[in-house]
Amino acid sequence: MPSDLVIVYHRQPYEEVEEDGKIVLRENKSPNGIVPTLKSFFGRFDKGAWIAWKQAEDPANPDFERVIEVDDAFGQYTVSRLPLTAEQVSSFYHVTSKEAFWPILHSFKERYNYDPVDWPTFREVNWIFAEAAAAEAAPGAVVWIHDYNLWLVPGYLRKLRPDVKISFFHHTPFPSADMFNVLPWRKEILQSLLACDVVGFHIPRYVSNFVSAARSLLDVEVTGRQKVEPEFAAEVTALSERSVPTELEYEDRRITVQASPVGVDADYIDAVARREETAERAEEIRAEMGGAKLLLSVGRTDYTKGGIDQLLSYERLLEAQPDLCGQVRLMHVSVPANRNMTVYENIQNDLEQMAGRINGRFGSLDWQPIVLISRAIPFEDLVAYYRAADVAWITPLADGMNLVCKEFCAARVDGDGVLVLSEFAGAAVEMGAALLTNPFSHRSMDSAIAQALEMPKAERRDRMAALRDVVHRHDVRFWANHQMEALSGSAPGAAAMP
Ligand code: UDP
Repeated sequence: MPSDLVIVYHRQPYEEVEEDGKIVLRENKSPNGIVPTLKSFFGRFDKGAWIAWKQAEDPANPDFERVIEVDDAFGQYTVSRLPLTAEQVSSFYHVTSKEAFWPILHSFKERYNYDPVDWPTFREVNWIFAEAAAAEAAPGAVVWIHDYNLWLVPGYLRKLRPDVKISFFHHTPFPSADMFNVLPWRKEILQSLLACDVVGFHIPRYVSNFVSAARSLLDVEVTGRQKVEPEFAAEVTALSERSVPTELEYEDRRITVQASPVGVDADYIDAVARREETAERAEEIRAEMGGAKLLLSVGRTDYTKGGIDQLLSYERLLEAQPDLCGQVRLMHVSVPANRNMTVYENIQNDLEQMAGRINGRFGSLDWQPIVLISRAIPFEDLVAYYRAADVAWITPLADGMNLVCKEFCAARVDGDGVLVLSEFAGAAVEMGAALLTNPFSHRSMDSAIAQALEMPKAERRDRMAALRDVVHRHDVRFWANHQMEALSGSAPGAAAMP
């Protein structure tokens, strides 16, 4: 039976784990991610399908279980796993997406590596996804495609199935035209995205960037604009435009473009944070700190996350204020990416070296200035650290949204805690009540962390109340509904921040 909702996402909506020699399906490790929310839409449609890839030694092997029928709390749906060879996965995902697209999307031109890109394979893999979506979709179905590694799917799908409604959500930043146009395949990518009915981004600035890149290369007309709500431009109005396009016309088609900020499952985090065991664990952490203040930094090991810049700022803080020795501790969680790429290994080595240097310079037998954690912390434990921290220090150089800062606020059921946030995280647009900082400026970084440590309680509580309000209002369900409603043309305030 064909599906009236098809979700195309490169990851499967569950994890496969081995139990007693058998592969069983488990809910994703991150209960707070977007996957459960996406799955919840299956309940609103007669039949749903999810399309992802799965590595296969021999894609032609008839034993490869291509389609799985799932019947879980979210309803009944099928999961099509497209068999890709290890070479296809490496070329499409690790090389083209991570070495060529990722640095450009985050405006790191100098890290862009064009040489190893095998464009025909990227096209081929995207074609496989488009064909699978076309085969699965009922007449007039909604097909919701996710992220840049599937950039070419909308264009292929539109040719195969002119009748379906296509929505695309872009989970990373979208850079300025100067940066985007470095990609030799720029026109092909933009033409594909313009085959959608709706293209969503996190914040108005990415919408503007997309439209200006499209207009720099193609005959695209802006037929609708809307003012950005001042609330969402916050203290970063200088970085975002006052009004953004909402409707485009290209080759006789109308395309809605809009900003829909991804949020977290604030209610779920609230519930975890209020659990007795979470409160007890947070107390234990505080006791282990022995009265010292806990600065918490959490992110993936990636050059975009600005880990080195942060450690350098911490070193300058201890240099400038020696009386802080013994009074603060930085827990820097840097989760290595799950692949053997030299660029990530180098960052990991640099972080270890830097943390070692700071611990060597300032540490003593009874005080270690930095605890560097190079592994993922289970989400429930992370919530206990969020609750225990005095300051969340989240300073990426570039980040599409950044969920960690939102999780931190959702976990602060006590209404306390300070968030220091980079203005180059998409989240900064909504979270103007944080201490916003520019990670490219030593002065800005250093004064923000010093201010965070000295902030009076009343100010901490006022700021946290405003942050928690945003995080609860713009949660993950709000994001998904906003993106879905745009397809029926009923999105409130399309393109301006919702
Ligand atoms: N995370 C986690 N354990 C860790 C570190 C991170 O579960 O030790 C989760 C974190 O809770 C968040 C996600 O990883 O949900 C990171 O998302 P974010 O948007 O901040 O960054 P991304 O990695 O997507 O760039």
